[in-house]
Amino acid sequence: MAKAVKKTQSAVEAMYGANVFSLKVMQKVLSPKAYASLSKTITNGGALDPAIAGEVAGAMKDWAVSKGATHFCHWFQPLTGTTAEKHDSFISPDGQGGVVMEFSAKELIQGEPDASSFPSGGLRATFEARGYTAWDPTSPAFIKEGVDGATLCIPTVFCGYHGEALDKKTPLLRSIVALANQMERAGKLFGLKPVTKPYATLGPEQEYFLIDKSFYEQRLDLVQTGRTLFGSKPARHQQMEDHYFGAIRPRVLAFMEELDQAMWKLGVPAKTRHNEVAPAQFEIAPIFERLNLAVDHNMMCMEAMKQIADKHGLVCLLHEKPFAGVNGSGKHNNWSVVGVDGKNWLHPGNNPHENAKFLFTLCAVIKAVDEYAGLLRATVASPGNDHRLGANEAPPAIISIFLGDQLTDIVEQLEKGETKSAKSGGTIEIGVDVLPVLPRDATDRNRTSPFAFTGNKFEFRALGSNMSTAGANVALNTIVAEAIDEMCAQLESDIKAKKDFNKSLQALLQSIIKKHKRVIFNGDGYTQEWHKEAERRGLPNAKTTPEALEALKSEKSIRLFEKHNVLSKKELLSRYEIYMHNYQSVLGYETECARTIAATQILPAGLEHQAALAETIKAVESVGGKAAAAREQLAVVSGLVDELAVGIKALEDASVCHCTDKMKDAMQKTRAAADQLETLVPADLWPLPSYAEMLFLY
Ligand code: ADP
Ligand code: MG
Repeated sequence: MAKAVKKTQSAVEAMYGANVFSLKVMQKVLSPKAYASLSKTITNGGALDPAIAGEVAGAMKDWAVSKGATHFCHWFQPLTGTTAEKHDSFISPDGQGGVVMEFSAKELIQGEPDASSFPSGGLRATFEARGYTAWDPTSPAFIKEGVDGATLCIPTVFCGYHGEALDKKTPLLRSIVALANQMERAGKLFGLKPVTKPYATLGPEQEYFLIDKSFYEQRLDLVQTGRTLFGSKPARHQQMEDHYFGAIRPRVLAFMEELDQAMWKLGVPAKTRHNEVAPAQFEIAPIFERLNLAVDHNMMCMEAMKQIADKHGLVCLLHEKPFAGVNGSGKHNNWSVVGVDGKNWLHPGNNPHENAKFLFTLCAVIKAVDEYAGLLRATVASPGNDHRLGANEAPPAIISIFLGDQLTDIVEQLEKGETKSAKSGGTIEIGVDVLPVLPRDATDRNRTSPFAFTGNKFEFRALGSNMSTAGANVALNTIVAEAIDEMCAQLESDIKAKKDFNKSLQALLQSIIKKHKRVIFNGDGYTQEWHKEAERRGLPNAKTTPEALEALKSEKSIRLFEKHNVLSKKELLSRYEIYMHNYQSVLGYETECARTIAATQILPAGLEHQAALAETIKAVESVGGKAAAAREQLAVVSGLVDELAVGIKALEDASVCHCTDKMKDAMQKTRAAADQLETLVPADLWPLPSYAEMLFLY
């Protein structure tokens, strides 16, 4: 190997996972017995054996301290949508005026942060304020580097006193178990020798904007709400389509390089980086991993993006729609499931047996998504995403599945199956026919679909850029588990009745396709025709967050989550409360922020321009001149200033009545007047950096 190759390669290898207490590290620092026990816990789930906890804690601390860590924290994901951490140092007085560094088994396994300031949706009364964090060994401990020191982070679940889930991770782990259990049953039916516990995989593609920090700091709306509440669209934005995949500017590349390296150190397999559709918009995508880990890694990535951007004098905007009229940011949730045979069951395969597993899983997903479309939609509902879904750049709020023509044809043939209809085309018989090879790229052309089959996985594209991926995947795992549960029950009873497995499977899949094919749609999801067609097909279309969240409260959802032990009724309803409260809070502070900016920055600029025009007219006319243009502009500006004042009053009224519809309406009216004023008021009077500046000067 050339020397230069060796140098880079060994640098990357040394960097990758350097800050992770990985299996590789564990094998080095633990006794064989402890390592065997812990690695078993990690691959199969479950709790850490208390007998080895002391040894693990000690080894973990030594490793962390050798990396410069002075503190540890239980790192968890409360229902705020971000991560939380409370640091404790390792120091312990030695009784002689000095300290030793210690970390006990108890400190590793369980923490007791005060939970009273985290949202619980009424699950926990304030008098029992304690929350508990407990290590989830399936996600390895890692080191977070600070400016001058480091912290050992222990990924944990976060529960109330009676074990009630207060976080995103607890139901995620439960849903992973629910899916694994059903996949295990399916594996048995397919006669497979188990080599692993089944698991779901996730590869989230993350979009984001970068803007110069100096602009950000001049915009109270960005600082306070994460999005611009005002701003007229610049002449040029994304119509040239020259940004997407374009050459990456050096300043951005420097950010990306640092980000990738930070991710690699944390064992996050950052893979792809590129410019996105809108100016100043970018994407990072990792290689897919086990679902639980991928969810954590995405949270770590979002946090690192913000911090690293800051170091480069940039600000990373993760909001779903930072700039009105310009592409928003989403997160494509690439999901699949690995069976007991260690293989991806959404991989079509090339023989009848592999094909049968694939078609089984495909039909499970089709059935699941059709039956629980409303629930899936609820998991991507947020005030930020409301600006994006259905805005002709993101998928519509109607959940449908894109299979592509070829797979749709296969599904149709399967539906006809053994009937051997003479009229049209081929038929597919399970266990006999071999599926044609599906070219991967042919399945991924349609970007308008919220839920697309892309070769060997499904891609749920409706997630917002700012969201944790946990919620969507809790739902996805559980609804697919439920579909597989029903399918296995049918197959098991057929087998008991001595029916042929392939024939039973064929009949089952046919009935599923008949019943659920309405959810399949390969056309353009942006068109009005589709909206009408979807309505005719009876597909739900919840346009706003409050409408969408209703699905969380339905009897059907409650039954589903209780049956699979993912969320109790109480836990589920608490989430509804929290998300609704969040929606109202966001609209509330957006409204107040819009009022502040409109009243204290934009209106004064408008009035100043108005006064200047009046002065001009007076001056010009006093010397006998005609100030026609100034008079004309004064009329327009005066009209807009008045409209703006009316808008400000409407914002105040909406704030007082706490009515979110009125808030949205008032924000929109105020913005319309302000954005038009922006096109008339002299640039040096305008108090806010413009869209053109923010989107092009970075
Ligand atoms: P694109 O969708 O842009 O064409 P890819 O198909 O290469 O790009 O992958 C997008 C994401 O999907 C990546 O994060 C990739 O690792 C992930 N992915 C690929 N295969 C799977 C799988 N079996 N399960 C989950 N995610 C996957
Ligand atoms: Mg993709």
